[in-house]
Amino acid sequence: MAQLKYKIATIGSHSALQILKGAHDEGFATIAICKKGFERPYKMFNVADEIININSYHNFPKIQNQLIKKNAIIVPHASFVTYMGYEEVEQLKVMYYGNKKILKWESDRNLERQWLKNAGLKVPLVFNKAKGIDRLVIVKFMGAEGGRGYFLAKDEKDFNKKIKPYKLRKYVIQEYIIGVPLFTHYFYSSLTNEIEIMGCDIRYESNVDSLGRISARDQIVLPKIDPSYVIVGNIPVTVRESFLPRLIEMGDAVVKESGKLAPPGLFGPFCLETILTPEEEIYVFEISARIVAGTNPFIDGSPYTWLKYKEPMSTGRRIAREIKMAIKTNQLKKVLG
Ligand code: ATP
Repeated sequence: MAQLKYKIATIGSHSALQILKGAHDEGFATIAICKKGFERPYKMFNVADEIININSYHNFPKIQNQLIKKNAIIVPHASFVTYMGYEEVEQLKVMYYGNKKILKWESDRNLERQWLKNAGLKVPLVFNKAKGIDRLVIVKFMGAEGGRGYFLAKDEKDFNKKIKPYKLRKYVIQEYIIGVPLFTHYFYSSLTNEIEIMGCDIRYESNVDSLGRISARDQIVLPKIDPSYVIVGNIPVTVRESFLPRLIEMGDAVVKESGKLAPPGLFGPFCLETILTPEEEIYVFEISARIVAGTNPFIDGSPYTWLKYKEPMSTGRRIAREIKMAIKTNQLKKVLG
């Protein structure tokens, strides 16, 4: 088994259980790099053959040589990119699954928007200044705070009042789209040039998803309940089947466009974060150019991967299978960034 020469490694967080389990299923040995105190799940669920402890994710480059000696291939996820920063990830010497050059395009909201628009996708309007606000908007802050402090505003006056505590933060004012937020997970193989839908999820966010449990009458009298969008978990969704052709085309379009922006383009797992309106319009408010935590409910596969593979196929396992296929056909370089 050619893959035995290599190990799959990732940071113990986000979707590491799935990535490491998937690597085991495909015959790889595995390594979890854990911040002290975070190693228990990886021991409990027996997915890591080895655990390397670090004090902070910023220390990751210091253990690189260890990983290189072990012939490890890093599979990145959001925690990896968020905690280290894409510039630091770009400098890594250890084998890395995916195209690092695309990270810049997903890390900057303006570049990301350009990418989505160039791909012909519908994106929410953005207001450059408060003066023009003529509809409900969501004000989002940049950085790794994860939806904390976001607020809704209906006009300039409302915005100016609510932005006061956050004057020093960088933010974006985006049209608020009323509809169902849907996250579609894709996988694009740079070996076969095929796109796959791996699954869909909706998120459960605190406190916005629990506000509906408090009646409007009580919300009005309570002094201050602002919605926040702090992710708590993910719920699997099977999307209405007639949406699938459009979702597949949208996946194709972002992959095609990425080839122009950061050759050889986006490959591996990615996610389009959308809102579907009652008029059946699909707005994309974000793209994640790597595995998303919304794939975690599908450790045993989703309805879509079951149709295609007829065996349990998580996104983590799909990544390991791609790496294995690349090793077997002497194309490993093609899947490393
Ligand atoms: P990041 O990956 O940068 O942490 P995120 O994936 O959490 O960001 P955000 O863009 O920060 O996504 O949005 C957080 C949540 O806010 C979404 O899950 C969604 O519920 C809601 N949301 C975001 N943009 C809009 C919008 N334009 N209209 C309506 N709701 C939105």
